[in-house]
Amino acid sequence: MSLPPTPPGGTTPGLVCAHHHLYSALARGVPGPAVAPTDFLSILESIWWKLDVALDLEAIAWSARLGALEALESGCTAVIDHHESPHAIEGSLDVIADACAEVGVRVSCAYGVTDRHGPDGAKAGLAENERFLRAGGHGLVGVHAAFTCTDDTLDAAAGLARDLEVGVHIHVAEADTDDGATERLAGLTDDRWLLVHGVHLADDHGLSGTIVHNPRSNMNNAVGYARPTRFTNPVALGSDGIGASMLDEFRVAFARLRESDVTAGADTAWSWLEAGWQLMPAALDDRVTWSYDPIEPWAVAYTTDVRALEVVVDGEVVLADGRATRVDGAEIRARAAEQATRLASRMSP
Ligand SMILES: [Zn+2]
Repeated sequence: MSLPPTPPGGTTPGLVCAHHHLYSALARGVPGPAVAPTDFLSILESIWWKLDVALDLEAIAWSARLGALEALESGCTAVIDHHESPHAIEGSLDVIADACAEVGVRVSCAYGVTDRHGPDGAKAGLAENERFLRAGGHGLVGVHAAFTCTDDTLDAAAGLARDLEVGVHIHVAEADTDDGATERLAGLTDDRWLLVHGVHLADDHGLSGTIVHNPRSNMNNAVGYARPTRFTNPVALGSDGIGASMLDEFRVAFARLRESDVTAGADTAWSWLEAGWQLMPAALDDRVTWSYDPIEPWAVAYTTDVRALEVVVDGEVVLADGRATRVDGAEIRARAAEQATRLASRMSP
């Protein structure tokens, strides 16, 4: 199938967001907590762990549609998602995969297993990963983080991933709350794992897998700077749920790198963006035409408004003149706003 004529502007393959939470797309429409959280754990407790228990499959679907739409509009054609909805576990990964397929965005799904809701909750999370992957779904086995899981759950998730020949997608050492993760995950990891954040990992932590750096999220949660250049692991870039504008995330990654080392080049942060293609190689076949030319590291690092004009996925134009072609973007935004209101009404104060 020949591709349609290309509009003027630089082109790249589809960009990859190596760590996303599509379920967080509705959070902007939910009022903030009455008392401002003061640290990482209280941010989880007062915002995310109230939102995730209120999610049902309908809210998940609209959140995923909105997140996928925003990814596409940013030239991101492949999202590696990490999902949690403790009261709507079974079938949740299908809902997310279907929503992304509707919009025309590739997705790797994972359910974040945790013992926060007891052993039955952990078992249900493992079962959802297994059900989805055995049915042919594209994804990884998800784990929230070592600090919310028992050793038995970590072993079970690692074992399931080995059986299914995929990696584990897990938050690691995002904050000092997760101290001890290195020791508890030692011997379980392999090169297919995604180790998300790694802010508080030692330089020689010894874990295998790709470190996913989320610089904007780390700043937002005041957990520190991961200094990814110190690791021997591959490093990729994620948004941690704050959209999927990967050129923007690259700029933040570059600025943060320069803050710690003024001699650093844009190529380093760009290589983290490119590492996404090792994780989702299908995105290499996609084509994004941008509003700016050339799309190369130094130029993009200092050009703050580069928009995706056209996106081709699997030979189909799924974004034309900056607008999604398969879905009505205005309708998705309107319905997602309604769902955010409904979600807020279901959340405990
Ligand atoms: Zn995350």
